[in-house]
Amino acid sequence: MRRLLCALCAFALLLAGTRARAEEIVLTEGSDRWSAQTFAMDTLIQATIYAPELTREEVLEVMGNLSRLERLLSVTEPNSEISALNRAEGEAVQLSEETLLLLQTAAEVSKETGGAFDVTAYPLVKAWGFTQVEYRVPDGEELRGLLEQVGYERLVFSEGAVRAEGQTQVDLGGIAKGYAGDVLTRALRERGVKSALLSLGGNIAVIGGKPDGSAWKIGVRDPQNTEENLGYVEVKDANVVTSGGYERYFEDEDGNLWHHIIDPATGYPARSGLLSATVIGENGAVCDALSTALFVMGPEKAADYLAGRTDVEAILVCEDGRLLLTEGLKECFTPLGSAGGRTTEWICRREDA
Ligand code: AMP
Ligand code: MG
Repeated sequence: MRRLLCALCAFALLLAGTRARAEEIVLTEGSDRWSAQTFAMDTLIQATIYAPELTREEVLEVMGNLSRLERLLSVTEPNSEISALNRAEGEAVQLSEETLLLLQTAAEVSKETGGAFDVTAYPLVKAWGFTQVEYRVPDGEELRGLLEQVGYERLVFSEGAVRAEGQTQVDLGGIAKGYAGDVLTRALRERGVKSALLSLGGNIAVIGGKPDGSAWKIGVRDPQNTEENLGYVEVKDANVVTSGGYERYFEDEDGNLWHHIIDPATGYPARSGLLSATVIGENGAVCDALSTALFVMGPEKAADYLAGRTDVEAILVCEDGRLLLTEGLKECFTPLGSAGGRTTEWICRREDA
C-alpha cells in the first residue's frame, strides 16, 4: 500500500510538473501552423512552425527543451551543471555529454577568436552586475584582480569532465541561445518539419524557407534607431544572430552608458567602434559566439577575421557610419531606409580561406 501511495504521489508530482511547464508555453493552433511563445533563458522565445500535422504534445515536447537547457546551463540556476562547475574551485566536475560538448565548442571559439569571445568572462560579467541585474561600475583594481581568473586556457578538459583552474568561472550567456536554436530546429526537423521561424530574444533560426518555398526575409535592426531595420537578409536553413551594445545596458550616475558585452582583455564593456555585429550561418551556437566575438574585436580585426572564414557571413555596423558586409551577402542583403545613409564596404575572402 505504502509503495502504491508513493507511486501515486510521484505520478501526481509528475503531472503537476508537466502541467506547470506546459502552462508556461503559450500555444496557438492555426490552420497551417503552430505558434508557441514562452519566456526562457532570460528572454522571450517565439516559434512559428508550419506543420499543422504535429500534435500539441509534440510541440510542447520540442519547446520543453528550453527549460531543460536552462536547468543544465544557466549560471543563475543553482542546480545547473554550469553552477556546479562554478562552485568547484579547481576540482574536476563530471558533466553530461551535451554540456561538455557545448562548453568545448565555447572554448574552441574562445581560442579561435584570440579570446575576444571568452567563455570564462563570467567574473567580469558578474562584477558589472549583469547576471544579477544589480548594475554597478567596478573600479580598475577590482577588474585587474578578476582578470587574473579570466582565460579559456584555464579550462582543462578530460574524459567526461572539466576542471576550471582556481577561481575561474564560466558563462554560456553568449552562446546558449544560439545553441538552443540548434536544439529546437533539430528536434523539429526530426519530426518532419520543413518550414519554421524561431526567434530567441532576437536570435533568429529558420528551417527551410517560407511555406511557399521562398526565402525568409530577416530584418537587421538599426542599432542607432532600434525601432527600424537597416536592411534584411534573405535566408533558408540558417541562423541570423546579432550582438549589440543596445541590447542590455545601464547608465551610471555620471551619465555613462555601460553595456553587457565585456572585452576580456580590459574587463570593461567593449568600446571597439562597432554598434552591432550580425552573423549568419548554419550553426547557431557558433554564430552566437562569433557575433559576441566580432563585436569585441571591432571593425578592422573583425573584417580580417571574417576574410579568413567561409562558413559564416556577417554584417558589421560601425560607429563611424560604415556598414561592412562579407561578400557572400551581395545577393541576399537588401538595405532599407537608414542603411542608405551609411557607406557600404565589402569584406572579401582571402584566397587561402
Ligand atoms: P550576446 O548577447 O550573445 O553578445 O552575449 C552577451 C552575453 O555573453 C553577456 O550577457 C554575458 O553573459 C556574456 N558575455 C559578455 N561578454 C562576453 C565575452 N567577451 N565573451 C563571452 N561571453 C561574454
Ligand atoms: Mg552571442
